[in-house]
Amino acid sequence: MSLFDLTACEQLAELASGRTTSVELTQACLAQIDAHDSQVGAFLHVDRAGALAAAERIDARRQAGQALGQLAGLPVAVKDVLCTQGMPTTCGSRMLEHFRPPYNATVVDRLHTADAVLIGKTNMDEFAMGGSTENSAFQATHNPWALDHTAGGSSGGAAACVAAGMVNLSIGSDTGGSIRQPAAHCGVTGLKPSYGRVSRYGLVAFASSLDQVGPLARTAEDVALLLGAVAGHDPRDSTSANRPADEYLAQIAQPLTGLRLGVVREHFAEGLDPAVQRSVREALTVYKSLGAQVSEISLPHSKYAVATYYVIAPSEASSNLARYDGVHYGYRTDEQAMLTELESQRARLEAAGDEQGLAELDSALVRMYRRSRAEGFGPEVKRRIMLGTYALSAGYYDAYYLKALKVRRLIRQDYDAAFRDVDLLVGPVSPTPAFRLGELTDDPLSMYLVDLYTASANLAGVAGLSLPCGQSNGLPIGLQLQAPPFAEARLLRAAHMFQQATDWHAQRPALCSSS
Ligand code: GLN
Repeated sequence: MSLFDLTACEQLAELASGRTTSVELTQACLAQIDAHDSQVGAFLHVDRAGALAAAERIDARRQAGQALGQLAGLPVAVKDVLCTQGMPTTCGSRMLEHFRPPYNATVVDRLHTADAVLIGKTNMDEFAMGGSTENSAFQATHNPWALDHTAGGSSGGAAACVAAGMVNLSIGSDTGGSIRQPAAHCGVTGLKPSYGRVSRYGLVAFASSLDQVGPLARTAEDVALLLGAVAGHDPRDSTSANRPADEYLAQIAQPLTGLRLGVVREHFAEGLDPAVQRSVREALTVYKSLGAQVSEISLPHSKYAVATYYVIAPSEASSNLARYDGVHYGYRTDEQAMLTELESQRARLEAAGDEQGLAELDSALVRMYRRSRAEGFGPEVKRRIMLGTYALSAGYYDAYYLKALKVRRLIRQDYDAAFRDVDLLVGPVSPTPAFRLGELTDDPLSMYLVDLYTASANLAGVAGLSLPCGQSNGLPIGLQLQAPPFAEARLLRAAHMFQQATDWHAQRPALCSSS
C-alpha cells in the first residue's frame, strides 16, 4: 500500500512506527501537486522549501525521542484567507496580492503547535465571495473529478487538493456554505463548526457574524483529528466560545444508539436535482439500517435563508472591506499616473472656465482611494460592497438590514425547535452536483442559489458537515448533516458511522490513478 492510499490517521501510525517519515510524506504531496496542480489549480502558493525544512525538523525531533504534537509530520494545506506569517495571504484578490502578514492566524499557530507541515495556500473566490472559485483573481480551480467542472467554492482549492490526493488535510472557511459545498462537489468530507468553535483571529473577515474556519479531509476521522488540533477558545477572538473542545477523534467510534435524524422537508422542494435527491434518500436508508430513527422535520423560515444571507453578508462585508483603501491596507494605484491624470483634468477644466467641474474634482487622496479600490477589487466583490452599502444606508437600513436580522432570529428559532425533537438534521448540501466552469458566471442570482441549503446553518450558528453519499455521471454528491451548536462530536460520530457502512468517501477521481 502506498502512502497515497492512507488516511491522515493511518499516516500518523506509519510515522509513529518509523515506517515512514514526514519528509517522505511531504515529498509525496509535492510530487502529487507537481503532477496535477497545473490542471487542477488548487494552490496559489506552495511552500516547498519551508515544508521540507519543517518536515526535517519534525523527523529529527522524533528521532531524538522528543514529544510531538497531535498532527506531527502531517502535511496540511491552508485556504489563502488565513494569515500565514511571511507567506503570501492573498485572499484570492489583487488587493492583497503582495500581502505577507506579520503574524499567524490562531489556527495556523495551532497547526504549528501540533507539528503539522504547512504545505501551501489554497485557491478561493476573492474574499471568499462565491460558490465556484471562479472569482479568484488568479486562477479558477478545476474539479478533479471532471476538469471542466467547478470544484465549488469559495474553498474550492481546499476541497480539490484533498480530492486530488495532494494532501489529506486542509483548512477552509465557511460563511454561507464555502466548506460544505466544495466538499460535496469534490467528494470529500468538510465541517463548518459552530460559530465560536474555532478562532477567527487572523482570518481575513468577510462577514464576521457568519464566518467560521473548519477542516476538510477524506474521512470524518481525519476531520475529527484536524478539528481537535484547531478548535478551542482563543482570547484573541472575542467571539470564540469559552468552552473546551471535545475529544473528537477519541469519541468518533462510539456508537450513536437511538440516533434521531430529522429530514428537512424544505430541502426536498423544487430545484433539487433528481440524482441528488435519490442519493440523499439512499443515505437515509443506510442510516435506518444502522438503527437511526428518521422523521420529517420543518424549518419553516429556511426559504428566506438565501435572501437573508445576501443582505447580512454583503452588509458586513461592505464594512469589513472599507479598510482596503491603498493606505491602511491593500493594493495602491499607480500614484504618478493618477496625479498626471488629475492635473490634466484640472488644466482642461481651468481652460474651459468650468468652475463647477473644478469644485467637483476629487482631491488627490480621494482619487487614490477610488482608483485603488476600483483596480484592486474584482466585480463580485464590488457587487457585494454595493449591495451591502445600499442595505445599510439611511432610509433602507430598517427595510433591509434590520428586517434581515429579524428573519435571522426566526431561522435560529426554527433550529432550536427542530433540535428539541431530533439529534441531527439531514438533507442535501447543494441542489445539484458540480456545475460546469463558466455555467453560472454571468448569472449572479443563480450562483447565489447554490447556497440554498447551507446558508441557514451560518445564520443560526449551528454546525454543518458534508460527506460524500453518491455520484451522478461521475460527479460526487454530498449529504449534509447539521447539529446543534457545539455538538460537533455527535456530527462526526454520525458521519463516521455512515463511512463505516459505505465507501463513497473512499472513491478517488481517475486523475489520481494517472500519477
Ligand atoms: N457562496 C456564498 C457566497 O458567495 C458563500 C461563501 C462562503 O461561505 N464564504 O457568499
